[in-house]
Amino acid sequence: MSSAPNSLAARDIAYTVHGYTNLRQHEEQGPLVITGGEGVWVSDDEGKKYLEGLAGLWCSSLGFSEKRLVEAARRQLERMPYTHTFSHRSSEPVIELSEKLVQMAPASVTKAFLMNSGSEANDTAIKLIWYYNNARGKPEKKRIIARRRAYHGITLAAGHLTGLPYARAGFDLPMSDRFFHVTAPSWYREGLPGESEEEFSTRLANEVDTLIRSLGADTVAAFVAEPVMGAGGVVVPPKGYFEKVQAVLKKHDVLFVADEVINGFYRTGNTWGCDTYNIQPDILTCAKQLSASYLPISAVLMSQDFYEVIADFSAKHGNLGMGYTYGGHPVAAAVALETLKIYEEDKTGEHVRAVSPHFQKRLAQLADHPLVGEARGVGLIGAIELVRDKKTREPFEVSAKVAPQVTGRCLAHGLILRPLPGDAVGICPPLIITEAEIDQLFDRLTAALDDVAGVLPKAA
Ligand code: PMP
Repeated sequence: MSSAPNSLAARDIAYTVHGYTNLRQHEEQGPLVITGGEGVWVSDDEGKKYLEGLAGLWCSSLGFSEKRLVEAARRQLERMPYTHTFSHRSSEPVIELSEKLVQMAPASVTKAFLMNSGSEANDTAIKLIWYYNNARGKPEKKRIIARRRAYHGITLAAGHLTGLPYARAGFDLPMSDRFFHVTAPSWYREGLPGESEEEFSTRLANEVDTLIRSLGADTVAAFVAEPVMGAGGVVVPPKGYFEKVQAVLKKHDVLFVADEVINGFYRTGNTWGCDTYNIQPDILTCAKQLSASYLPISAVLMSQDFYEVIADFSAKHGNLGMGYTYGGHPVAAAVALETLKIYEEDKTGEHVRAVSPHFQKRLAQLADHPLVGEARGVGLIGAIELVRDKKTREPFEVSAKVAPQVTGRCLAHGLILRPLPGDAVGICPPLIITEAEIDQLFDRLTAALDDVAGVLPKAA
């Protein structure tokens, strides 16, 4: 980092507040300023190149130099830079994108509601579910179940869904007693000695069943889950988990909300994580790869049954009393539509299915490294969990910051990855990554792991 008084770094320290950043440490350390990108690579203001191994924040599916998206934005900006979707207004990109999303979505989905971020989508889903149950004359049916370690966003309602202490501490959450969390489906961390994967899934589904019964099914509205948990540590569900949980929810008339903000658009090898895990959602939220993150946009997708109930209720109230100034922004919608066309024309799903076996093979090999307790993943997403003792799975002390040390050494080797809760390191490269680049990613990560193993005190 340059420390010259007028450097970008000095001005960043002077003027910018950063989310998920130790602000005092930032005043000392300053920013990593990313100034350019080409394919899966980005470069900083000093010209150093990095392989973007987390696709930004799990979102830059098409890398950093897709000219078609630049053109799509330019065309729409020139034609009509802004209109909204309130009071019966619409625009061509919004109509085309909604139609396309419904065509791509699981069969049960027939309508799309557009907004700007994953948090907004999940917040909206919660509000609409409350609206829906008020409409059905079930004003008590409002409680929502999510999982510990889940990340569903940080706005107030979505922040209640998020089951990670670091996203709550100091913010007076919870402010509502409508939210509950059950065990994260990590067989590695939560499985009992001798318990099979299927038995673990059964136990977790029983936990959901017991919670719903103890709260009263007529007070529980929805269960919210990512098919594969991302920011909570890339937790891949155990065999049978979603089949068993869905059976419980059906029995109690509890809606399934699939948070596809990371999984959606081929991350797990299929269009949706729901396809990979045979989930039939009532509501699906998506964002990030929807526009390859070139512009902010998100969506709540819903079933016709759900829509019918809220449509009647909106007529009763005079209108649906919510919407966002930039929900269905025509430029963001045009970029999202172009992104979906690129996925189709470039056969992005086929590409992911072609290269992911190599990605998963290289990932699985890391399980042999002395620092790695578990290497897990599916499609083009994965994580390694770092442990002091591979046999007992004893973790390092949090204060040792082992995962941040590894991602710090990754940076030195020209690789951007992200430390995740539970001393995990997340890996989620742009979907356009080639096998040769996958090798570079894992070679650099291995070098970083070796560096850290070399300086850590040996286990007793
Ligand atoms: N859901 C999931 C699964 C996410 O990973 C995220 C962001 N990492 C969100 C919701 C929130 O999205 P945003 O940051 O766009 O509000």
